[in-house]
Amino acid sequence: MTGSSVQTAQTTRRRDSYLAHKVATLKPSGIRRFFDIAATMKDVISLGIGEPDFASPPAVIEAGVKALRSGATHYTSNHGILELRQSLSANLEKLYGVQYDPATEIVITVGGSEALYLSFTALLDPGDEVIIPTPCFVSYQAEVILAGGVPVEIPCRMENNFDVDPQEIAAAITPRTKAILIGFPNNPTGAVASRETLLEIARLAEQHDLIVVSDEIYDRLVYGGHQHVCFPSLPGARGRSLLLGGFSKDYAMTGWRIGYACGPAELIAGLVRIHQYSVMSAPTIAQIAAIEALRDTDDAVRTMVTEYDRRRRLVVSELNRIGLPTFEPKGAFYAFPKVSVTGLDDEAFAQRLLTEEHVAVVPGSSFGAGGEGFVRASYATAYEQLEEALRRIERFVNRL
Ligand code: PMP
Repeated sequence: MTGSSVQTAQTTRRRDSYLAHKVATLKPSGIRRFFDIAATMKDVISLGIGEPDFASPPAVIEAGVKALRSGATHYTSNHGILELRQSLSANLEKLYGVQYDPATEIVITVGGSEALYLSFTALLDPGDEVIIPTPCFVSYQAEVILAGGVPVEIPCRMENNFDVDPQEIAAAITPRTKAILIGFPNNPTGAVASRETLLEIARLAEQHDLIVVSDEIYDRLVYGGHQHVCFPSLPGARGRSLLLGGFSKDYAMTGWRIGYACGPAELIAGLVRIHQYSVMSAPTIAQIAAIEALRDTDDAVRTMVTEYDRRRRLVVSELNRIGLPTFEPKGAFYAFPKVSVTGLDDEAFAQRLLTEEHVAVVPGSSFGAGGEGFVRASYATAYEQLEEALRRIERFVNRL
């Protein structure tokens, strides 16, 4: 066969789709689907959203506007503005006693989402396995699959306060395991991991030579006197972990799109290699606003945490009174009631609650197998709206 006839044979082969198999077979997010239905209805109270209802702190907005007017409209260093990395480094040291060199061990990303994307693209070879406790943020499995890896889910249980059982992790480790991905405070359960659990995960990682990716984007949103434990601050953990975080949740800055990854210089250099070819640099004015968030927002964060806590107590006590067993979340801004007690599965419960009472929640199975039988209700919604949503949920449950 000549070269040209080989080419003809190849170009005339019909495809089912031009999309890569891993993309064509990726399930759409269950959260989006519910948003789309809710958007077509009037009078919906949405407890489905995973973002603060607060506006960004005024000082942050001012800094962003000022940056724009003063001509900060150019690229920054691929790593991000040095002053932001320095402030972040100082902040992490102050809060958790963990040290990262601003020059080589931090990269500023487009939200925590890009930090997840960079981490798995940088860490995984095809077929590498990542152990993921579920329920978890909807992007975790997808990011692993898109990076060519294989997510291996292990369940966290309500009986165990939705903490990870290290024995489940140990049992899931195979010769293909490369990483463990943890996310605490947790979306969607609001659980925090105990120090003992995290120490045990650090020990397993050391024993099996694994890396731990710790998504701590809700680190400052903790309640009831709970102190957040930063995974890399634990003995022996820093050298084999990536700390991911961002400004979206703690500082009510979802739309600014600023996050970060911190870790050993060799790993961060790998993340930056991908970031420089795919993104270049995170938005400049948003980075400048983020510097301000670290400088002057302690009061604003405290005010938001106090209000989330007030709503948290209302939602948890009311859901339990209504008859939906709800674990007391210690962080983030989600309640995770068990709805299977009504006889409906989580999909049917969420669907009927939306169509019959116009309250949007997210079916727990969207967050992995560990979420089946539960729904996620966000309390990043005004107190009065929550009261009305709870009245509607009670009416719905009583009717079932
Ligand atoms: N991690 C977790 C656990 C989240 O819940 C989210 C947002 N829902 C993100 C990461 C990504 O946040 P962003 O990209 O807005 O910083």
